[in-house]
Amino acid sequence: MYFLLVSLFIGILPSAYASVPRLLLVSFDGFRADYLKEYKLPHLQDFIKDGVLVEYVTNAFITKTFPNHYSIVTGLYEESHGIVANEMYDAATKKSFSQFNDTDPFWWNEAVPIWVTNQWQGNKISASAMWPGTDVKIHNSTPHFFMKYNSSVSFNERAENIIAWLNNSKPPVTFATLYWEEPDASGHKYGPEDTTNMSKVLQEVDNLVGLLVKKLKSSKLWEEINVIITSDHGMAQCAQDRLIKLDSCIERDRYMLIDKTPVAAILPHDEMYVYTMMKNCSPHMKAYLKEEIPDRYHYNHNQRIQPIILVADEGWTIVQNETLPRLGDHGYDDTLSSMHPFLAAHGPAFRKGYKQKTMCTVDIYPMMCHILGLTPQPNNGTLSHAKCLLADQWCIDVPEAIGIVIGVFMVLTTLTCLIIIMKNRTPSLRPFSRLQLQDDDDDPLIG
Ligand SMILES: [Zn+2]
Repeated sequence: MYFLLVSLFIGILPSAYASVPRLLLVSFDGFRADYLKEYKLPHLQDFIKDGVLVEYVTNAFITKTFPNHYSIVTGLYEESHGIVANEMYDAATKKSFSQFNDTDPFWWNEAVPIWVTNQWQGNKISASAMWPGTDVKIHNSTPHFFMKYNSSVSFNERAENIIAWLNNSKPPVTFATLYWEEPDASGHKYGPEDTTNMSKVLQEVDNLVGLLVKKLKSSKLWEEINVIITSDHGMAQCAQDRLIKLDSCIERDRYMLIDKTPVAAILPHDEMYVYTMMKNCSPHMKAYLKEEIPDRYHYNHNQRIQPIILVADEGWTIVQNETLPRLGDHGYDDTLSSMHPFLAAHGPAFRKGYKQKTMCTVDIYPMMCHILGLTPQPNNGTLSHAKCLLADQWCIDVPEAIGIVIGVFMVLTTLTCLIIIMKNRTPSLRPFSRLQLQDDDDDPLIG
């Protein structure tokens, strides 16, 4: 009898409960949020129509590639996960980090990325077709399947690998990443205001989304897998007449330039001298001593953050004496909308046809842990910011809630009015009926 009941109970469970939740996290580098509004991108729009969209994602300062990709997968601000720039120097160990010298776990071990946590908790594995840090032994482990970073490997090959791994592995791949260098590369080369070239590259990116969805459908993964498509940062237009030349303010031998622009990291020989010179260098650049960096940047508590940082205004480029290196750049203040990426998601874990104005990059991590049933590492994110995106969460939409409150108030007011009217009418009936009764009572007497 007990066996029969258990079988019946299992039999009526929806299939989504029976299978393990799976998630594919995709990043198109440098996909500025408003590209979605300014360009026709039919494959992405199709993806969003059946899923959710967060129009603007507030990313982490500095708005650079390595730091923000690590914030997405750890839920931490840069000061807490330790990847504080694309170019870093650690004074204590005299180690250097760059995009081309990034495989020393020393730089990554201050945090635990989700692909490692996923493999630590239960009989599951992770896979990665490139994502900063996935080819590094972080806390002694890489994703079970991964590709060594190589920008010349095509999107098609990356997608093919991911799909093969999602299909064939035992134990199952439950978390996977896929990374593509565009539209960042073209944004740097042409600048975001070059609509002809940006339109071309965005069509290509949109076609890659179409290709990915087609491959997921033909391999029967589409219905069961959750897919997040997002990015690390946006892009701002730069110009030759918006250069800040450090050589015109201070001699080069007074400091070491660890990271260049638009947030320059300065290791000074004489801190106060260098700071004073830099502070008065340009009205389009702010100089901060490390302890003065505004709290809102969450960019202070890490020894890899240098004693002085310089922050250029939007569209300005810091150089020593060079010409303009790029027509587009990012790294600027994370409150600038030009720095924000978007987030779209589709799959059984997500609502359908829902749009949300904003969330933070650090909120993506607790949302992904929730979907995968993982206990998250300590993080700076807030799951409730992503509640409305998730199918299994009760979500209060503010305008909707105001509507409901007004509706309930109107119904209650109408009911109260009706009760008052009824009450007022009843006493006027009583004397009449009493009179009648009295009349009736009187009748026999008279009679
Ligand atoms: Zn870039």
